[in-house]
Amino acid sequence: MEYPESAEQAAEFIRLALPLMARNGIPANPKHYTVWYDYVSGRNQPLKESIDRALSSDQKINPDLSDEIFEQYFRSNEEKIADQMRSEVRTLISTVLQQLTTSGGQAHHYGAVLETYNTRMSQDLSTGDFRKLIGEFMGETREMLEANRQLAQQLQNTNHELDELRIQLESARHEASTDALTGLANRKAFDAALLEQTALATDMCNDLCLIMADIDHFKHFNDNHGHLIGDKLLRFVSNILKDSLKGQDLVARFGGEEFAILLPNTPLRGALAVAESLRARVQSQRLRRTDTQKPIGGVTLSLGIACFRNGESPEDIIARADSALYLSKRQGRNRVTLETQIPAA
Ligand code: GH3
Ligand code: MG
Ligand code: MG
Repeated sequence: MEYPESAEQAAEFIRLALPLMARNGIPANPKHYTVWYDYVSGRNQPLKESIDRALSSDQKINPDLSDEIFEQYFRSNEEKIADQMRSEVRTLISTVLQQLTTSGGQAHHYGAVLETYNTRMSQDLSTGDFRKLIGEFMGETREMLEANRQLAQQLQNTNHELDELRIQLESARHEASTDALTGLANRKAFDAALLEQTALATDMCNDLCLIMADIDHFKHFNDNHGHLIGDKLLRFVSNILKDSLKGQDLVARFGGEEFAILLPNTPLRGALAVAESLRARVQSQRLRRTDTQKPIGGVTLSLGIACFRNGESPEDIIARADSALYLSKRQGRNRVTLETQIPAA
């Protein structure tokens, strides 16, 4: 989140936040200050409401509460998951170490006992002594077997738990890179893929094209049918994009009702064919209102295409695809524009 306030305003927030923190015994370190700066400035409404709720319910404002608020509003899901994983793996390691120490101790004891049998065997033994020795030997061996069985069981449990952690981690990773509404890649995943692909295109001299697409007059759909239908429309268009592309292509929700489609190893004319087919599919498929079963007509996409130029930054190619997209809008929407069609400034 950016901080748009002026130096004077920021200083005023310090004057408000510090006494409030001091009064409640909250150390003015950067972590707590982040919470209380946002509170006094009112820039983070949900955070402010949480603290106000605590204040009105006579909950004590203290460093613990401030910690909780920080966790809730400032720590990313990924950080929380990493912390949880760290603690689970630590517990696993310490359990295995404990079991190893136990069975290690048992093995040491078993070795020492075997040594004494060796010494005793070199003496003259009666059959009765032999029977006794064999009985003891069997007893010790059973204990050693039991310790080993426990260790094997423990290692098997550990393996199972590590497997569960791996699955949890995989699903957390998927969640962190997926847009919840549409199931497409999210902006963060797109930014990472674009960075990776531009580097790859530079190294290998590969073609790399970017299509930016935006739903036309989306605001009208929201205004005329409500936000729920608006969301349904977003999923409808997302599904068409998802179903039309495959392989290395990446479709992401860039933001709002705008999508970014990254096409590695694709020259400009290939990207043009893809964009044109997406445009035609969105125009021809019909979404129906669940309540009235009436079709929602007039859903169209405007698209813009740019191809990666060696040495440019990811922002440069986005900006050119965006300019091409806005030319599509200006020229009447429901069309595809190539960056080469943008008039020179
Ligand atoms: P244009 O053809 O020029 O693109 O017009 P537009 O109406 O599509 O574009 P504009 O940028 O004016 O409006 C976009 C709207 O998209 C405004 C915003 O409320 C809506 N929107 C953004 N994200 C979501 C969402 O997740 N769900 C819903 N229902 N609406 C959204
Ligand atoms: Mg739009
Ligand atoms: Mg838009």
